[in-house]
Amino acid sequence: MTAQRPESVAAALRGRELDLLFVSHLVNVRWLTGFTGSSGAAIVGNGTRRFVTDFRYLSQSEEQLDGSWEREIAQDLLEQAAGGLPSNGPVRLGFDDEHVSVKQHEKLRRLVPENVELVAAGGIVEELRMVKEPEEVERIRAAALLADAALERVLGRGLAGRTERDVAVDLETEVRHMGAEGVSFPPIVASGPHGALPHAVPRDVEIPEGVLVTIDWGAQLDGYASDCTRTYATGAIADADRDVYELVQRAQAAGLAAVRPGPTGKEVDAVAREIIDGAGHAEHFGHGLGHGVGLEVHEGPRLSRQGETQLAPGQVVTVEPGVYVPGSVGVRIEDLVVVTEDGHEVLSTLPKDLTIVH
Ligand code: ZN
Ligand code: ZN
Repeated sequence: MTAQRPESVAAALRGRELDLLFVSHLVNVRWLTGFTGSSGAAIVGNGTRRFVTDFRYLSQSEEQLDGSWEREIAQDLLEQAAGGLPSNGPVRLGFDDEHVSVKQHEKLRRLVPENVELVAAGGIVEELRMVKEPEEVERIRAAALLADAALERVLGRGLAGRTERDVAVDLETEVRHMGAEGVSFPPIVASGPHGALPHAVPRDVEIPEGVLVTIDWGAQLDGYASDCTRTYATGAIADADRDVYELVQRAQAAGLAAVRPGPTGKEVDAVAREIIDGAGHAEHFGHGLGHGVGLEVHEGPRLSRQGETQLAPGQVVTVEPGVYVPGSVGVRIEDLVVVTEDGHEVLSTLPKDLTIVH
């Protein structure tokens, strides 16, 4: 799966007039090399494929990296990485300034030969990671299916009368039982007015009958994350709550329909936002419409007012408008979707019409 990736990075480096890239952020190392351990870094460029790890990962790295990589074992990864750099001729070495600390940068600067210029080059690997290969989409799909099945089991045990925390822990356990590495983030279970906090932490508070409950959860499977939100009713709800639900459902459908190659994240965000703004809830939708999902549960591209990236086939994004009325109610509906050549495919499988779960 990873075979073509070093060449893609090398091509991106040429566009930025860089000779080499020092990749130290572990998720990027994993994407690039297939290595899943907790200590490793890579140096890539035209014809250069160096991988540095410590002795604990001698055999794991041998299994996970293909033969094109030169593997180096060292106690100090930075020292080893810098020590192997060419020591003559000008070399422009990119490093990931979003993930290299000031301290590490200082050390790297001290260690590299004089002919090596360090250039801040964050985001190169992240940009490539945005477009998924078919195998990656299948892993994300599998994570989403597992997460959906886990929630169905949890809902089968009911919501009303259980605490938010109990439901969240049940969900985490179920996801693991079903074979995932774990949840892709701590699940959100928020009922009634608590649902008005987009990042609500589950409380030791019983979920009452007749309220809305927002559940935002995901699984991490084979390294890949899923992310989905559904809002359920625990019985007959107030008309005002139902209106908010239907508004979010409409905005979600419209945002989803806009997902296809071409528009920027900002443009897709605007489609859903216009509907919520038009209903007088502009100030109650304070986050972006969505984000990319892959090895990390939050990655590029962003579907938000800052989203300048154009959607392209192979990107996997969420579409998750929400309306949060402080002290009253919160609703969010989130699907995970893959951008295809002529539109999109939804990976989330659970129904979105308001469902009552007692
Ligand atoms: Zn989510
Ligand atoms: Zn999300």
